[in-house]
Amino acid sequence: MEENLEKKIELLKQWMEQSGSIVFFGGAGVSTESGIPDFRSVDGLYNQTYKYPPETIISHSFYVRNPQEFYRFYKDRMLFPDAKPNRAHLALAKLEQEGKLTAVITQNIDGLHQAAGSKEVLELHGSVHRNYCTRCGQFYDLDYVLKSEGVPRCSCGGTIKPDVVLYEEGLDNRILQKSVNAIRNADMLIVGGTSLVVYPAAGLIDYYQGKRLVLINKDKTARDSMADLVINGKIGEVLGAAVGV
Ligand code: NAD
Repeated sequence: MEENLEKKIELLKQWMEQSGSIVFFGGAGVSTESGIPDFRSVDGLYNQTYKYPPETIISHSFYVRNPQEFYRFYKDRMLFPDAKPNRAHLALAKLEQEGKLTAVITQNIDGLHQAAGSKEVLELHGSVHRNYCTRCGQFYDLDYVLKSEGVPRCSCGGTIKPDVVLYEEGLDNRILQKSVNAIRNADMLIVGGTSLVVYPAAGLIDYYQGKRLVLINKDKTARDSMADLVINGKIGEVLGAAVGV
């Protein structure tokens, strides 16, 4: 590990030790080390060729107009039932267990924070693990969606929709408010694996009032200049080393 990176991880560790209400806010980059592609890296979904760009396919209007094509893409590119939590997920779960971390706020829909043992997970964009009949409200798990052919149907004949926030859809206000409160009360905010371009989620970090804003990302982000510590590295390696998992 390069010397500069080691020093930064050491500082991150010290800050963690001195903090008692850490909040983590993350995105797709948290799960790339688990084999789930993000959207904006060079090997991410936006740089692969499909008939339509991902933000078109996973939009509300596209889902309504063309559910077959939506589900073809969704099942093929957004469901990773065999993915396992990586060191980033495990480190955050450990910090919560130790009473140091109050919440994980995530833009991810993969459920890997819960799989790692985290309890207070605020899922801004929903979860692939929850699916509902749009006619009668009946709940279905991920397995049902995976095993269905084409568009999954309810026993009542209605269409099943994932409880995932599509483009053009609004965020759940209750979860947004809980996230704002958690960030306002945090004594340390760690932001990682997110390009910070998807709003309103990206705007959440503006609610942080403390002096320990840490950004961990492979690449530069638009908010690097406002951070107290910027660590360019793989988040699983960085958090794994800082927390010791
Ligand atoms: P994004 O794809 O826009 O950005 C990911 C960022 O993470 C990039 O800046 C990239 O450089 C960085 N990154 C990738 N791997 C990393 C690693 N190992 N360590 C550190 N940094 C790493 O993702 P976003 O900001 O979360 O926004 C995209 C939207 O896509 C979100 O709304 C999310 O709901 C959705 N999404 C979710 C998943 C998932 O659930 N795992 C996967 C893809 C997209």
